[in-house]
Order: sequence, then C-alpha cells, then structure tokens
Amino acid sequence: MRTLIRRALVGAIVATLVGCAAPGSPVVSAAPTAPVARTEIVWLGQSAFKITAPGGKVIVTDPWLRTNPLTPANYKQLDAFGRIDVLLVSHGHFDHIADAPALAQQYNVPIRAPGDLNQTLTTLGVLPANLLPRMNKGGTIEPAPGIKVTAVHAEHSSVYVWRNPASNKDETHPGGEAVGWLIELENGFRVYHAGDTAAFGDMRLIGERIKPDLALVPIGGNFTMDPAEAAWAVKELLRPKAVIPMHYGANPLARGTAQQFVDAMGPSQIRVIVAVPGQPIPF
Ligand SMILES: [Zn+2]
Repeated sequence: MRTLIRRALVGAIVATLVGCAAPGSPVVSAAPTAPVARTEIVWLGQSAFKITAPGGKVIVTDPWLRTNPLTPANYKQLDAFGRIDVLLVSHGHFDHIADAPALAQQYNVPIRAPGDLNQTLTTLGVLPANLLPRMNKGGTIEPAPGIKVTAVHAEHSSVYVWRNPASNKDETHPGGEAVGWLIELENGFRVYHAGDTAAFGDMRLIGERIKPDLALVPIGGNFTMDPAEAAWAVKELLRPKAVIPMHYGANPLARGTAQQFVDAMGPSQIRVIVAVPGQPIPF
C-alpha cells in the first residue's frame, strides 16, 4: 500500500515536472511513468461501452454486441469482459438490450434498467427476478461499492420485443420509460450516458448540477439527435469536459457521422473524441 502511494506521489511529481498534465485534470492520472490505475473507456459500437473504473470495476452499457456490425470480433465473445460489476440498459429496444440477459446470466450481475422494463422481463421469465431489480428516475443507487448510478430523463420511447417460444411469433411488450444514466466512479469522475434521446431542456440541469467529465451522446439522427442537434445540446446545455459521439454507423437510417459532429462542434473548449470500436481511451 505504502509502495503504491509512493509510486503515485512520484508519478505526480514527474507529471508536474514535465508539465504533461492537462489543465484541470487530476495530475496523478496523467503520470507517464507511474502504474496508477486510470479510467478506461472502450466503445463497442452503437451505445455499448465498457467503462473500467480506476479500482478495476467494470461497467457495461447497452450491450448490443453479437449482431452489431461495429462490435470488434473479440467482444462478440461474451466472456471477453472478464468481469462485469454494473450492467446498464437504457431502454428496451433491441440495439440496447440484445445481449444484456446473456451477460447478466454469465456474470451473475443484475440488469439495471427502467423498472417497468425489468418488470416485463420478470413477467416473461427472461431472467430470474434477482437479476431484475426495480428502479426508476431520480435518486442514486450504488450497484457496486464506489460506483454511483442515477437514471435520468431521456426523450425517447421503449418497448421490448419478445419471441414467444410457444407461438414462435414476436410480441411487443411495455418497456418502461427510456432513461439516460449518470455514472460516478469512485474517484469522482462523472459520465453522462444519454441513452437514445432527442435534445431536451433539462440537459441544462444535468450540465449545471452534475458537471459531467464525459458525455456519451447519440448523433445518428432519425431515432435520436443528429450531429447538429447533438453538438448544440453539448455546447449549450451539457457543457462536459469531453464528449464521445455514439449511436451512428450501425443502422442505415441513422445517417449522422462523426465527421459531421466534429464539424458541428467547431472550435470549442470541449474535447471531442471520436472513438474507434475496441480501442481503449484513457482518462
Ligand atoms: Zn431506441
């Protein structure tokens, strides 16, 4: 323990001396030589992310993996995650929930989702009830020690389409209300995962009250914000320190591109990161 602290201190001093720490970022996290754990974000296509907290806990969002054209091959093997401590699903549409039940079973981790979506999954017998706890917007839960999660508004819809094994026909069931997520890691790093959403005025409250370090925002259009709408919401309402566009490139109707989003952001204090699926982004 003492060694770890000493390493962190040495790293902090080195970072200060070489001046490589970005303004406003924690100096220790920018240390070039010290083996100090950092937050790591991996985009897996659409709205699926693997977020590894500094202490090693793994948060997975909206896992559509095995049939997602953007998901790297290794992550189509669900055991690639090694561990999952928090599993978040923003709403019941297939491209957000598809592989969540399989991951919940494999890693014995509950699905955190709109309570009425989990109620539907419980009623249909998709998973045992202990993997489908109820929650709703407002209030903050701590699904793993040090990881705080809050469901917030999203301007979207939600149903769950289920293939009835008796009839072999699809049925459409209530999916609760779509949500976005505020995720706070044990070091205070705050991520806003917007889920699927149009821009809405209360994004300003999220920006003012939560001050996200990182916002993950949909830009594809047709089902969600398009690049121009998303850039406006990020600059005028959310004002995060950094933003990663998501929910594009996987559905022919969602035509927005990362380049259009970058262009719409223009010159800005906000760091725009275009994620490459499977490539870890350190923070
Ligand atoms: Zn959706």
